[in-house]
Amino acid sequence: MNVQHILAQKGRQIEAASPDLTIADAILLLASKRIGAVIVIDGAGAIAGILSERDIVRAMVAGAHALEDRVRDHMTGLVVTCTSDTSVADVMDLMTRGRFRHVPVVDEGELVGIVSIGDIVKHRLAEIEDEKSAIIAYIAAG
Ligand code: AMP
Repeated sequence: MNVQHILAQKGRQIEAASPDLTIADAILLLASKRIGAVIVIDGAGAIAGILSERDIVRAMVAGAHALEDRVRDHMTGLVVTCTSDTSVADVMDLMTRGRFRHVPVVDEGELVGIVSIGDIVKHRLAEIEDEKSAIIAYIAAG
């Protein structure tokens, strides 16, 4: 199974933010969309970074004035991405090694989606249920 299967189920909705957005507005965006991270897109349409709730928690350690900082001040600039063809197992590996829970999906330079650890867990649980049903059917047929 690959990332394409997950995107086909969850859709290709992408929440993006400008590097100039304030942290306060980024919090509102994450809360209103009920997501844990937003991809930061620069003026040329390229991925400039990713900002997750974890970055915001770290920013807030400095004090409430961090709410007025810009997203660019607290985002991670070097973003690990995958493609639609990447296997789900390989995305799990990227997340485990990188200790992050979001991976943007980029096909031939175009951002086509984002996969979260929640999507991966949901997919894996469905796979396990399918395997269980197949084993039960096999045993019953024997
Ligand atoms: P997360 O677990 O996704 O909330 O992110 C934990 C940390 O990793 C935060 O500092 C994020 O900015 C960063 N991060 C999240 N996703 C990625 C990614 N795909 N590539 C690089 N860093 C990331």
